Amino acid sequence: MENTNMDTKELKTKLFYEQKHAVKKMSESEIARADEFCEGYKKFLDNGKTEREVVREVITEAENRGFVLFEQDKKYNPGDKIFYVNRGKSVILAVIGEKGCSEGVKIAAAHIDSPRLDLKPNPMYEDTEIAYMKTHYYGGIRKYQWPVMPLAMHGVICKTDGTQITVCIGEDDRDPKFCISDLLPHLAAKQSDRKLSEGIRGEELNVIIGSRPIDDSDESELVKLNILNILFEKYGITESDFLSAEIEMVPAFKASDIGFDRSLIGSYGHDDRVCAYPAFMAALDVGVPEKTVLTVLTDKEETGSDGNTGLNSSYLKFFICDLAKSEGLDGWRVMSKSECLSADVNSAYDPTFADVFEKKNSSLLNRGVVITKYTGARGKAGTSDASAEFMGKIRSILDANDIVWQTGELGKVDEGGGGTVAKYIASLNIDVVDLGVPVISMHAPYEIIAKTDIWAAYRAFYQFFIA
Ligand code: MN
Ligand code: MN
Repeated sequence: MENTNMDTKELKTKLFYEQKHAVKKMSESEIARADEFCEGYKKFLDNGKTEREVVREVITEAENRGFVLFEQDKKYNPGDKIFYVNRGKSVILAVIGEKGCSEGVKIAAAHIDSPRLDLKPNPMYEDTEIAYMKTHYYGGIRKYQWPVMPLAMHGVICKTDGTQITVCIGEDDRDPKFCISDLLPHLAAKQSDRKLSEGIRGEELNVIIGSRPIDDSDESELVKLNILNILFEKYGITESDFLSAEIEMVPAFKASDIGFDRSLIGSYGHDDRVCAYPAFMAALDVGVPEKTVLTVLTDKEETGSDGNTGLNSSYLKFFICDLAKSEGLDGWRVMSKSECLSADVNSAYDPTFADVFEKKNSSLLNRGVVITKYTGARGKAGTSDASAEFMGKIRSILDANDIVWQTGELGKVDEGGGGTVAKYIASLNIDVVDLGVPVISMHAPYEIIAKTDIWAAYRAFYQFFIA
C-alpha cells in the first residue's frame, strides 16, 4: 500500500480520523426530519417524567401500533409484536424476526428512571406554621441545583384496602407547584463558605407544601392537619398511607427548544429518555426484522440497577428464556448469540468546564450518536469493555448507513467516572457496547441535548435492528 501521487492535504484527509459537525454530513432535508422527530420526543418527555409514566406512555403508543401483551408459552410468528411489563416500572418490546431467536436476538436497552427527589416514607411535618415533606434523593444529583424552582409531585400511593392512587400534581398550568427554599444572599455568608457538595445538604431538601391552618383553634400542627384534610378529601388517604407510596418530586417545567436556532432541547430527564425514545421508535418502525429485536426500557439504572425492576435482576434473562422456549430453544444458547446496544447518554464536552474533559476522546454536541467502548472509573473498574470485534461490527453498520457518530469517554482518566447497564447485559454472555446521545449538564434538573444527535441515535438503533 503506497500513497503515491497524493498531496499532503489529500493524504491527511485519507489517513486522519476526524469527527465532523452533523451539518457537514446530513442533508438539509435530513436535518428537517431530525427536527420533526424531536417534536414527538418533546411530547414524550412532558408526558412521562417517571419510570411508571414512561411505561404507561410506551404501552399506549405500542398498542396503537399493534403490540400486544406477551403471553408465556404462546408460539409467536415472524412480525408479531409483543410487550412485557415488569411491575409497571420496566417494559420490554419485542418484534419477532424471520429467524425468531435461533441466531440470537438484537437488543437496545435504555433506562427510564432519572435522578430526582423521592419522598421519605414518613415525609410530613410542620415547622413554624409551614408544612413540609422530607425527601431522600434518588441517583446522583448535585443537591444545590434543586432548591428555588417549581417542583411537581408524581407517583403512586397504595392503600391497605388494595386500591392504588396515581398522583400527578404540578404539571397542568393551573396546578399548584411545590418548592424547596434557599437562603437569601444577605444571610448566606456562612453557607457560602460550605463546599459546593454541601451547599445544600440532604436534610435541607425539604419541600414546602402549605402554610394555612385548618382553623383558628389553639391546637398544634394545624397547617399539617389542613394539608392532610385536603389530601383526604381529594384522595381518601391519611398520613400513614405515605408508608406504602412511591412519590417522586421532579422539576415542574416542560421540554423546550434552546437557542435562537432551536438546535438544542432543554429538559428534565434526557438521561436516559433521549435514548429510550429513539430505541422505542426504532422498535415501532422496524417492520419484520431478520432476527427478533428487543427494546428494553428499564428502571433503577440511576441507583446501580439493583432491585427487581433494574437490569441487575433476571427479568430480561427470563424473558429471553421464555421466547427461546416457545421456539424449542435453550435460553442460554440464544443469549450467547445475542447482541446489544446499551443505550445510555454520555457527557458532552462543555467548553465552560473544559478542564475535566480530554478533548480528543470526548463526545461533542451535534457530532452524532456516541459510542462508548467502556465506562467505569479508576482504570476501567466496573465496566463492560466492548471487544474490538464488536466495536468493528457496530462501526461498519453506522458507516454503511451514513449515520453521524463519534466516540467518547466520560471525562479525563482520573477525573471521575460512571457506569451503565452494559455490564449487566454482558453478564448474560451477550455482546454489548454503549451507544447513546451526548448530554450537557447531565443529571441536572434541566439537561441539554442536540436534535441531530437523537436523530442519529434513532437511525443507529433502527439499522442495528435490521443489520
Ligand atoms: Mn443514564
Ligand atoms: Mn444517569
